[in-house]
Amino acid sequence: MEKGILYIVATPIGNLEDITLRALRILKEVDLIAAEDTRNTLKLLNHFEISKTMISYHRHNEEFRSEHLVKELEEGKNIAIVSDAGTPGINDPGEEIIKKCIENDIRIVPIPGACAMINALVASGISTKEFLYYGFLPLNKKLRKEKLEEIKNTNKTVILYEAPHKLKTTLKDLEKIIENRKVVLARELTKIHEEFIRGNIKNLLEKADDLKGEMVLVIEGNEDIKEENKLNELTLEEHYKFYEIQGLEKKEIIKKIAKDREVNRNEIYKHFLNK
Ligand code: SAM
Repeated sequence: MEKGILYIVATPIGNLEDITLRALRILKEVDLIAAEDTRNTLKLLNHFEISKTMISYHRHNEEFRSEHLVKELEEGKNIAIVSDAGTPGINDPGEEIIKKCIENDIRIVPIPGACAMINALVASGISTKEFLYYGFLPLNKKLRKEKLEEIKNTNKTVILYEAPHKLKTTLKDLEKIIENRKVVLARELTKIHEEFIRGNIKNLLEKADDLKGEMVLVIEGNEDIKEENKLNELTLEEHYKFYEIQGLEKKEIIKKIAKDREVNRNEIYKHFLNK
């Protein structure tokens, strides 16, 4: 018997017009919809006049439900997985069933659509070239500290999700590490009160008490780190010159190059031996 297909269906993050034609067709055609919250998805299905059997698939039953869903897929049923909003698997259930399907050689088809972090990023005006998506910062003190340290030291754009009641605490934690880096808060994306607050962490902290709704923070990468990384893209000769024109001695230059490139000093020394 031919196995079924697992469709990962993105749904709107506010504005129902953001459902795609393909998503609607798939939701109509599948045998079963696995939903994070069936009551929530029922509203969406009712709006689009789709009547379909649903099964709950959420954080607390992900593992056990995945096994059941894989069985159904192996029996030839096509299943769509949806979360409460946006793209399943992005801070929403999905990962577990997707892994299990891969293990069991079941075809997976993503049906693209809304995702809060991507829309916050592209509208932020902050570099989209390279970015780190963290989802929600951990609440555990040690893990949170580690993540904050990473954010402090990255030259890539950082994207965070946050709940309104925790916003102020998070902004205060960020204040200690991001100084004057640009920050954009994207709020209520695709909804009536959609808003982008662009500025720095101080500007945001002043407004934090009044900010409600769903929100994404986009933070500019650390420019200082960018400069250091650029050095490693130079040839060794260019790298050498960079320090030479600053008036450094050969020994000191070699030491610095080795440190920048995280290699043994002798390797650099050998390279410049006869130069
Ligand atoms: N799977 C979703 C996605 O694709 O973006 C994310 C789900 S996560 C549980 C919920 C968080 O996403 C919210 O707390 C908020 O940070 C962000 N989010 C979801 N919808 C949003 C919206 N319309 N505007 C801003 N942020 C949103």
